[in-house]
Amino acid sequence: MSDLTQYPIHKLQKLLSAKEITSVELTRAYLEKIDRADPKIKAYITVTPDEALKQAEKADKRIQAGEAGPLTGIPLGIKDNMCLKGVRTTCASKILENFVPPYTATVLQKLEEQGAIFLGKLNLDEFAMGSSTENSAFFPTHNPYNLDHIPGGSSGGSAAATAACLCAGSLGSDTGGSIRQPASHCGVVGMKPTYGRVSRFGLVAFASSLDQIGPITKDVTDCAIMLQAISGYDNRDSTSVDMEVPDYQASLSTDLSGMTIGLPKEYFGKGLSEEVEKGIQNAIGILEQQGAKIVEVSVPHTQYAIACYYIIAPAEASSNLARYDGVKYGFRAKDYSNLLEMYKKTRSEGFGPEVKRRIMIGTYCLSSGYYDAYYKKASQVRTLITNDFKDAFKKCDVMATPVAPTPAFKIGEKTDDPLQMYLSDIFTISTNLAGVPGLSVPCALSSSGLPIGIQFMAPHFKEERTLKAAYALEQALGNFKEWPQF
Ligand code: GLN
Repeated sequence: MSDLTQYPIHKLQKLLSAKEITSVELTRAYLEKIDRADPKIKAYITVTPDEALKQAEKADKRIQAGEAGPLTGIPLGIKDNMCLKGVRTTCASKILENFVPPYTATVLQKLEEQGAIFLGKLNLDEFAMGSSTENSAFFPTHNPYNLDHIPGGSSGGSAAATAACLCAGSLGSDTGGSIRQPASHCGVVGMKPTYGRVSRFGLVAFASSLDQIGPITKDVTDCAIMLQAISGYDNRDSTSVDMEVPDYQASLSTDLSGMTIGLPKEYFGKGLSEEVEKGIQNAIGILEQQGAKIVEVSVPHTQYAIACYYIIAPAEASSNLARYDGVKYGFRAKDYSNLLEMYKKTRSEGFGPEVKRRIMIGTYCLSSGYYDAYYKKASQVRTLITNDFKDAFKKCDVMATPVAPTPAFKIGEKTDDPLQMYLSDIFTISTNLAGVPGLSVPCALSSSGLPIGIQFMAPHFKEERTLKAAYALEQALGNFKEWPQF
């Protein structure tokens, strides 16, 4: 049989239920591939082969008994900022290097209950702060399409592992683009659901009012399957919303007649590379052929989104990260003569430079005398951005935009210039500020063979619209790219 690791989840599921393969065989295939290829990609921080094979044996029994769901027996990778009981959760930070959580995140519990297999924990920018996975305290991850390039971030390990077929699909988290941007750079599908659609319980908090967990998959059908599996109200997350979860796969269709797609004019201005623009325009032409009506819309406060996000996110981070003090979790500095010195040394030695930068910016923005000028102003701007989306969605069902201004840049290219790194988040952060869903789906390849994604955004709790548009595009484009071989 051909290389099983290249198959999307929905095909693997068919092979499993037809008993053509077993989950143990499939899990072994992934573990072997990780052994062989991950030294080049560096997607995994921790691989858990024994636990995975045990889960696979259980899944096979379930399949034998005819009790399988769409994810039973499917090997997945998990971003290493979601807690899994008994398996270390590092957030790619020295401060949590040896932290073993005593509980499991709701999303992982849901997947476990449905019989999914966890292959291990995937690399990220430290505490999910970054856009390239170069801020990991351990090592950078490489883009499977070109190992000299970044995979995007912060869920770079999740996107790279999915594209390199080191897992069948993965979970990422998205605070300002961290699922969609790496998905775009690695040629896979990534969805940030509506804020409140998926429980954050057990996700290590970065910026609690923006964070959301979502799937990174090989195709749109897999995205619908995984979103279905993790969505829904959770009484352990007070911000999760008790709203019916629709049947996402049922919304997939290649007929877009009756759908109006808005192109926000602020997303197509300067800074957008020619190649990305061409890829997006080509995709929009295809959507039109599938029956969609294309209109121009406006989200006028977009120009303030980066400034607004880089106040709110660090402000929340500075308070969320106050808990890492050498007492409650993980790392503690060795030499100190009193308690204050222990705190200081632990945090100085335990956090990397980007995390420290955010803590300092956030603390400054929240301090008395500056709170009104920065945090309060940013919160007001956030409301304006949210209202922009509400107004734009009066004129269209979904919006289509670029995901990132350029294809994946080279490793090391932007590490000395944090502002340049922040600016590349321009097309993804507004959805987090407004709380609406966003999905990235591959639409083109650059001249040097790097993937380019297009983003679909929809009103709150209308994820199915983004899935429908993305599915129609994916079907029309066919197999325009192959999975990189390792
Ligand atoms: N790149 C953004 C940041 O550095 C987004 C990160 C994320 O979504 N976790 O904050």
